[in-house]
Amino acid sequence: MNNIRQYQVPLQKYMALTELQERNERLFYKLLIDNVEELLPIVYTPTVGEACQKFGSIFRRPQGLYISLKEKGKVLEVLKNWPERTVQVIVVTDGERILGLGDLGCQGMGIPVGKLALYTALGGVRPSACLPITIDVGTNNKQLLEDEFYIGLRQKRTTGKEYADLLDEFMSAVKQNYGEKVLIQFEDFANHNAFQLLEKYRRTHLVFNDDIQGTAAVVLAGVVAALRLVGGSLSEHKFLFLGAGEAGTGIAELIALEISKKTKTPVEETRKKIWLVDSKGLIVSSRKDSLQQFKKPWAHEHEPIDNLLDAVKAIKPTVLIGSSGVGRTFTKEVIEAVSSFNEKPLILALSNPTSQSECTAEEAYTWSKGRAIFASGSPFDPVEYNGKVYVPGQSNNAYIFPGFGLGLVISGAIRVHDDMLLAASESLAGEVTEEYFEKGLIYPPFSNIRKISAHIAANVAAKAYELGLATRLPRPENLVKYAESCMYSPVYRNYR
Ligand code: NAP
Ligand code: MN
Repeated sequence: MNNIRQYQVPLQKYMALTELQERNERLFYKLLIDNVEELLPIVYTPTVGEACQKFGSIFRRPQGLYISLKEKGKVLEVLKNWPERTVQVIVVTDGERILGLGDLGCQGMGIPVGKLALYTALGGVRPSACLPITIDVGTNNKQLLEDEFYIGLRQKRTTGKEYADLLDEFMSAVKQNYGEKVLIQFEDFANHNAFQLLEKYRRTHLVFNDDIQGTAAVVLAGVVAALRLVGGSLSEHKFLFLGAGEAGTGIAELIALEISKKTKTPVEETRKKIWLVDSKGLIVSSRKDSLQQFKKPWAHEHEPIDNLLDAVKAIKPTVLIGSSGVGRTFTKEVIEAVSSFNEKPLILALSNPTSQSECTAEEAYTWSKGRAIFASGSPFDPVEYNGKVYVPGQSNNAYIFPGFGLGLVISGAIRVHDDMLLAASESLAGEVTEEYFEKGLIYPPFSNIRKISAHIAANVAAKAYELGLATRLPRPENLVKYAESCMYSPVYRNYR
């Protein structure tokens, strides 16, 4: 750590950590686990974003498996080149929507590599059982196509049948090579592909999309925890989203499902409490014909409204969620409006990185006169307002996916079910204790993350057994203890 801290530039810290991961994997994980709050922003967002942008010029070793369009028809052979025989978790991207940075093509590999490092450090999945994969179908990023150091295919992205066929070949090859129980996490696909891939493979493979489902579980946990501060039950609240993509509609759907379970009301009914605004304005029924499939469930009866402020005034939400990827969109007027009809408005500005956040923590507290309960996607420092210190929470997906994956792995689950997402979410919300609420926090600190992950894993595994989707039999009596006993720990073996 002393050496890593010598570097002033975050990207240099990233490179030093990458080299350490190659040289002494155990020490790399020891550092990551013991200094998680300090190193998370290096190994993952925001620094990993910069690393992907410059991936070609900082490239040393492959770190993961690349499957290119050129290998069509031979994907199984390529998979067999990977030296590890036992793989439990694959994180795969095609690089089209890397964080909020857009199409980085093959250089998106930094994301699967980073996510899997967190699977090991935070969730205890053995490093050798983790496989990062990038599918190279070209890139539409002109700058990269002209960059002499670009590491991928120099061609425009393939789409349509050729794309679908390659992914299909990949999905079959994975199952053929690693069996039914390998988790395939889709990561940072553009939303038109993300929803389709999840829909297509959820019944035949163990698939999970962190951008849609992981985000949903993390945000639902934060909202449920916040109810202890704001009051009322989930079904008594009204939600308005800015942004109706993977994150927005994913969160909306899980909230609707949770309310539906709790109140025994059909989900078609509970969705009516939730409204979304996209780049064209409020999603309403008169737009239905021109809407993408994943937006259709949210097209409620209402007159058209083309901007957020008017939508806030008309809908009067108690919870305002930003998932648009566009910064500065929760203006003073917007926050004053939600604060005018809520004692304690719940405001979540989820867009990443920091520059894209819908508002800053300071703006949320100041404009609401200290009444807002606030959390964001990117971290913000505590804010002092009128002599009181407010600590914003961070809705980081790293709270959920490592424990979620561990739960699937230890139970030998063969499919992901929405009830498992609810189980993970409930477990995380339960980790927020009185002492944190007093500070206004709606998420627990990261320092306890391995314990949190073990509890999430146990809850998810319990659900897998209940649903008959677990194959590791008999079911361990104490799932928390079992989860903990399965977790990789970077210690040296004692041979005496
Ligand atoms: P996405 O699928 O591309 O969706 C973006 C949505 O925002 C689309 O519905 C888009 O509208 C809408 N939008 C864009 N510009 C807008 C504007 N000016 N006004 C209103 N709506 C606008 O992206 P995503 O995967 O959902 O991610 C969105 C953001 O959430 C990213 O910044 C990402 O980093 C962040 N995120 C945070 C977390 C977290 O905090 N844990 C997790 C996941 C994602 P159209 O549909 O009309 O184009
Ligand atoms: Mn992602």
